[in-house]
Amino acid sequence: MAILEEPITSPLRLQNLINGEWVDSEGRMVDVVNPANLQAIAQVPISTKQEFDQAVAFAKEAFYDWRRTPPLARARCMFRLKELLEKNFEELSRIQSMEHGKTIDESRGETRRGIEMVEVAAGIPTLMMGYNLEDAASGIDEYLIRQPLGVFGIICPFNFPFMVPLWFAPFAVATGNCVVMKPSSEDPISQIKVAELAVEAGIPDGVWSIVNGGRDIVNAMLDHPDIKGVCFVGSTPVGRDVVYRRCGETGKRVIAQCGAKNFAVLMPDADIPKTIATCMTSFFGNTGQRCLANSNLVVVDEGLSKGEAEAFYERIVNEFTTAASKIKMGYGLDERVQMGPLRDQGKRARIVSYIEKGLAEGATLKLDGRIFELVDERPRDCFLGPTVFSDVTPQMSIAQEEVFGPFACILRARTMDEAIDMIHANPFGNSASIFTTSGKWAREFQYRTECGNIGINIGIAAPMAFFPFGGMKDSFFGDLHGQGQEIVRFFTESKVVIQRWF
Ligand code: NAD
Repeated sequence: MAILEEPITSPLRLQNLINGEWVDSEGRMVDVVNPANLQAIAQVPISTKQEFDQAVAFAKEAFYDWRRTPPLARARCMFRLKELLEKNFEELSRIQSMEHGKTIDESRGETRRGIEMVEVAAGIPTLMMGYNLEDAASGIDEYLIRQPLGVFGIICPFNFPFMVPLWFAPFAVATGNCVVMKPSSEDPISQIKVAELAVEAGIPDGVWSIVNGGRDIVNAMLDHPDIKGVCFVGSTPVGRDVVYRRCGETGKRVIAQCGAKNFAVLMPDADIPKTIATCMTSFFGNTGQRCLANSNLVVVDEGLSKGEAEAFYERIVNEFTTAASKIKMGYGLDERVQMGPLRDQGKRARIVSYIEKGLAEGATLKLDGRIFELVDERPRDCFLGPTVFSDVTPQMSIAQEEVFGPFACILRARTMDEAIDMIHANPFGNSASIFTTSGKWAREFQYRTECGNIGINIGIAAPMAFFPFGGMKDSFFGDLHGQGQEIVRFFTESKVVIQRWF
């Protein structure tokens, strides 16, 4: 049997976690649908503002004791949570494949990356330390302490239902804050499971809460006077125009990690077979629904004659297209499958509209994702194969805008300078990769490129939990980033004490 056993066998009725209790919402229920077979696997509430306010009120109350709990005791909760996540590793991974559509290998990778956040947050007694200076002035000592602030809100995207919320929640809680999280209503089950384990790990009532819902909960969060800060991951229009703007107006700390359009720059000296293989996971992994996915491949022919340059471009287009055409598609829980469906029909329709735009703009359609095979018989509504366009120019909308699907544009540039100019002309600045064997080119690229995450012979430049997750231009709004030392600073206020004893 190729398809792994499903951990959800009948539709779940999801609840909110408020003050440590799982409670029904008064809001209407909407279906969470498995995109690989169109079966409803859960019903999620679209909760009310009153329910959100209640969760915040309990969280505020819980903060009093939680901030007085020694960091080492809080760290022990993280150790227990990590153990529970490990114990449930496979179930958590399969749930992601069911609710999102990604392959089981991608889900296992996501589970691993999420657990790493909890592992790093367990180091909070040292991460949270301040610093001091004896005799800052004669007979006067000065020191800095970091204190938690209160209740934080977390707003989650659909594309990494397990990992992304863990970029924030473990650090918020380990630093002594409380969180109220709104998972994506498209795939909320993973965070329900994580929260169940957080309760089992002994995290006290009210410290880790979940309120399911849509934009009304986001709006309530942005306006609530007791929410000290908001962590948002999602699209640029929502992150910039709703979350960042309103947090400015209401005086909240904010991290808004937003959309992307990432470039991979392929230099003529690159290791071509390894680069093409890396590009396949970079462009088409997670069905292209990844903020660090590369989606524009720029073939640079610096130093080549005109004839060599033509041949080089042709070779890359052909090898890239051939490799993409071999990707096996189907249900993510089928271990033969290399690419799952898109999250829903609406996302598929949006990407199809970009195929039509690419044709209208005059790019060459080398591989048409509308024509595809699946490894087995099943509803095809959410599936779309890899699409590859060549002869793309940087001004075309398919090269400018975030498509967020298995959709590759191949461009060309005479020099690396020209490639960097293309990157800088794009409004986004999340990530960029260079493929080369030249240290000089790699360093120049790293030095000059205005993007928060740089890959050198790496297709997905995803920072580990102990480094911040960067982002520039329209890909990030805020000051401090998620993960690592920066998130510890985000979740704490620095207080400086100056003392003298007469
Ligand atoms: P989205 O912006 O549609 O939704 C994100 C969250 O905001 C959801 O919880 C949603 O319920 C809420 N929301 C949606 N519209 C809203 C509105 N008008 N007002 C208030 N709240 C609203 O994003 P998505 O489709 O869930 O996620 C995909 C996007 O996330 C892509 O643009 C991707 O690049 C981005 N992303 C960025 C990063 C990063 O680190 N930069 C990581 C992952 C995903």
